Amino acid sequence: MIIHDIYQAPFIKEMQEVTENLWKNGWDERNGGNISYLLDEEEVRLYLDIDAAINQKQLDFEVPELANRIFLVSASGSYFKNICQNPTKNLAIVKLDGTGSSYKVLWGLEGGGLPTSEFASHLKCHAVRLAEDKNHRVILHCHSIAVSAMTFVHDLDENKFTRSLWEMITECLVVFPDGVSVLPWMVAGTVKLGLASAEKMHDSRVVIWPHHGIMGAGQSMDDAFGLVETVEKAADIYMKVVGVPGGFKQKITSDQLWDLADQFGVTPKAGILEARSKK
Ligand code: 13P
Ligand code: ZN
Repeated sequence: MIIHDIYQAPFIKEMQEVTENLWKNGWDERNGGNISYLLDEEEVRLYLDIDAAINQKQLDFEVPELANRIFLVSASGSYFKNICQNPTKNLAIVKLDGTGSSYKVLWGLEGGGLPTSEFASHLKCHAVRLAEDKNHRVILHCHSIAVSAMTFVHDLDENKFTRSLWEMITECLVVFPDGVSVLPWMVAGTVKLGLASAEKMHDSRVVIWPHHGIMGAGQSMDDAFGLVETVEKAADIYMKVVGVPGGFKQKITSDQLWDLADQFGVTPKAGILEARSKK
């Protein structure tokens, strides 16, 4: 029995809030960016009849690991600027079938439309992150500015990229000890990009798509947003420093990063820091 107005659902409010913040930060111009949120079926039942589908669509890939799972996802072509005002048009709640090869739309996409063109990346990354972490919930893609800028001037080797980001803010290592992954440039909206991103998500919750944007994973909206926000801020500092004549005069050292890891009890991704030079 449906007992609540869906506009009062915490997951809708969270989605409205995060997409507005992403847009205000300038990371989701026009229809740039997309987001998906794994929902709890019992919670969705409070707002929707999950047996009443608006329509059913076949996927051009399979995610059997996500069979029968329910997602709140942004619509393809939707402007994040408009999600807060009109969630019913710009979002969808979809339920995958028992094989993870099709989905039915339970709510949203008013006036037609489809989930994001990056749905393959989202679902494949959800499957991998859930296997790594049962509390995983959110995949977020946006066109964050400094990260994209950095992919034009920095070596795209992911270990070097991670090291540069860790060196930009003292807490970066604590927020993403698993580092960032970097893919080669790939065509947007493809299953190939989805598979490549998901492969990277085994080891790190951040995948950078050069000259395009970033994909981040989290246990909650705050977690995913905070992760992307931290990487973006580190990239912003990097870009500001390299833009100054003379560039870097000093950096956080490898030993200092090890000290930080000890203090916060995190394990830095292997192969990035040099061996400690002191006891
Ligand atoms: P969608 O509007 O289909 O979500 O695409 C936006 C985007 O950023 C593709 O990478
Ligand atoms: Zn994009």
